[in-house]
Amino acid sequence: MKRIPTGSPIANLSSLLIMLLFSIAAHGEELVDATADYDASNVFSRILRGELPADIVFESEYALAFHDINPRAKIHVLIIPRGQFTNIIQFNANASDAEKLGLLDAISQTAKVMGVDESGFRLVSNTGHDGGQTVPHFHVHLIGGEHLQ
Ligand code: AMP
Repeated sequence: MKRIPTGSPIANLSSLLIMLLFSIAAHGEELVDATADYDASNVFSRILRGELPADIVFESEYALAFHDINPRAKIHVLIIPRGQFTNIIQFNANASDAEKLGLLDAISQTAKVMGVDESGFRLVSNTGHDGGQTVPHFHVHLIGGEHLQ
């Protein structure tokens, strides 16, 4: 079998590809760049357009709430604005006051619909690479239904 000489362009390219595969496998999913422009091909944008199904628990003019496909607690719902914002920084900078209030209202209404407004719950919004964000459409995780560690 012919050997590829180390240091050759093909060997360098192979090492690069192997490193890339390892890095994607290690993370499981690609992480979002917090400064990236909005990319409307993301899964939540597709749910908003009705191209993908979602188990919806609350909807309004400004926001949508649906069950997380991979729940990490008894109750795990995602609340998203209908507008196109990658994360909370971009939402705060560019959303209208009505959109901001609409999202807050949706969070509160979702907690009530899910019956955790009195027992309590946790809100999380992973942002960018270090926050571990995987879907580049601003979303808030509402987690509860049990005592969280
Ligand atoms: P994050 O890692 O903070 O960006 O959260 C993305 C969340 O979206 C994860 O908890 C996923 O389980 C969830 N998710 C991904 N695809 C879907 C989908 N089609 N429907 C509902 N939840 C989803």
